[in-house]
Order: sequence, then structure tokens, then C-alpha cells
Amino acid sequence: MENKIIEVIGLTKKYSTNNSFALDHIDLNIAAGSIFGLLGPNGAGKSTFINILSGLTNKTSGKVKVCGIDLDENPKTVRGNIGVVPQEINIDPFFSPIQIMDIQAGLYGVNKNNNRNLEILKNLDLLDKAKAYSRSLSGGMKRRLMVAKAMVHNPPLLILDEPTAGVDVELRSKLWDSIRELNKKGVTIILTTHYLKEAEILCDRIGVINKGRVIACDTKKKFMKLLDEKELIIDFSEPIKEIPREIKQYCIKKEYRSLTLKFKKSKISTADIIKIFVNKKFKLKEISTKESDLEDIFIKLLKD
Ligand code: ADP
Repeated sequence: MENKIIEVIGLTKKYSTNNSFALDHIDLNIAAGSIFGLLGPNGAGKSTFINILSGLTNKTSGKVKVCGIDLDENPKTVRGNIGVVPQEINIDPFFSPIQIMDIQAGLYGVNKNNNRNLEILKNLDLLDKAKAYSRSLSGGMKRRLMVAKAMVHNPPLLILDEPTAGVDVELRSKLWDSIRELNKKGVTIILTTHYLKEAEILCDRIGVINKGRVIACDTKKKFMKLLDEKELIIDFSEPIKEIPREIKQYCIKKEYRSLTLKFKKSKISTADIIKIFVNKKFKLKEISTKESDLEDIFIKLLKD
């Protein structure tokens, strides 16, 4: 792997009130510069992982390094390298975004630098709201302000916990744009999500965690290659007499005027299949397809 921004070896967490492991000897590397999606069902251990990185929870055992710095040896520096955007919006409605940024800068012990804070707000498309009451911001703006707050101390790593939970479609894509922009500027992004399309669209690497264990971790490309299956449903305007020999092997369901085919895109294309039917003078009425997506992979992984 290229430069690792996160290096985790044997990370384990057992809460005193809980008998099972919240994190069970996790090994995980995250490359600098990536947008890494941490996926997993409820209770998988995602928040515990993030909370350990950001210093909110103590680990039971294992090693954690952020930017090459050991969490045990230098927790303060590790915290300084991370910006966290929590799930809940916690913004004082009576302060303006720029005041909120100043307060946050104070908390992190960084110099109050209005120009830099204005620059951050500008990058997140909030410049014209810098001096407005935060209560007047829309939901999407408030979320972007949360990101701005997390970037006040200029961390190389930004962690977003379910960034678009409950956010509508338009605002969601705006937030994704902001995340991509930050990434382009060199910030490594880790996000947790249970919204699989989000990981599919945004992330270049994905880790799947279940019952405190990492059950898969790879580039998104490789994940998507795991299943190159496609389903094709063809309705005909005449009853089907005989299925063409060449595609019999792909047929998983035959009805009076409809066929369902399942095939690997790497083996045969939809166009090839259609061509066969057309050449054999089948009268096609309607065609619909279903590609496998991250959701299928996820379900498959959790079942194994
Ligand atoms: P996720 O974020 O993936 O939903 P969590 O990290 O919140 O998962 O939880 C992982 C496991 O640890 C779950 O079994 C959860 O019940 C348990 N857990 C989380 N926080 C605590 C806590 N403060 N005390 C006891 N158990 C906890």
C-alpha cells in the first residue's frame, strides 16, 4: 500500500458492561489520500473504531498509528491530525459560522485566523453565510458547517460519521462534492455509512466490518468485480417455444412469454443475448435488467 495514514494492528475493545468484543483484533490500513468507506450493519463496531481514533473511547488492546504517530505515545498529536464530523448537528444557533469557527479554533489551540477560517467556509460554499445566524442556515448548510468546524485545525484526516443520514438527494450530492473537493486538496477521508450507494459513488476503498471484525477490505473496483452478475428479464409478444441453445445455460426462469437470464458480464453481453433472440426471429416486447451492486456484495459478505 502507498503511504498509510492509519495503521491498526490487533485493535480490540471490550466494554466493561458488555461481554462480547465490540472490536475483535482488527488489522486495518488506510492509504493517505483515499476516501475510505467503513461499512457495516448496526452494532458492527464502526462508532467504536472511530471513537478510539478520535480519543473518545479507550481501546482495550492493540496498536493504532495515525500519520505514523502511535496513539499510546502521543494521543494529543494524533487527535490534532484528525477532524471528526459527528452524526448529530451540534451548532449553537445564536452564533454565526465565523464565530463558531473561532470558538472551535480556540478549543484546538490554533491561532484565530479569520482569513483561513473564511477560506474554509468558502471551500464549503458557506462564505455568504459567514456572518449569518446559524439558525438561519438550511439543513445542508449546517452539515457543511460541521465539516468546516472539523477542518479548523487543518487536519490531514477527516472522519465523517454517517455524513448524509437524513439528508435529501440534492443536499446529499452537494455534500459529496464538498467531500471530494477536500479530498482533492489532499485530505484523507474516512466515512461510515450504511447507505451503500454513498460508498459506491464516493469511496475508492471500502472496509466491511461485522461483529467487531473486518470481513473484507479492498479497493472499490475490486469489490465491484466480485460480482459481475447481471439479470435480464425479457418479455416477448409471442409464447416462447424453444430457448435458443446458446443461451440455455443462462436461463433461470421460463414463463409463457417471459425469460429471466442470469449471466456474467465478463462472459457475454446483453447486446449479444438480444442479437441471438433477434436472429432467431423472437418478437421482443420489453427488456429490463438488474446489475449487482454493492448491496448484493454486502449481503453476500454478511451471509458467508
Ligand atoms: P456501530 O457503530 O457499527 O453501530 P458500535 O461501535 O456502536 O457499532 O457498537 C459495537 C458493539 O459495542 C455493539 O454490540 C454495542 O452494543 C457495543 N457498545 C457500543 N458502545 C457501548 C458502550 N458505551 N457500552 C457498552 N457497549 C457498547
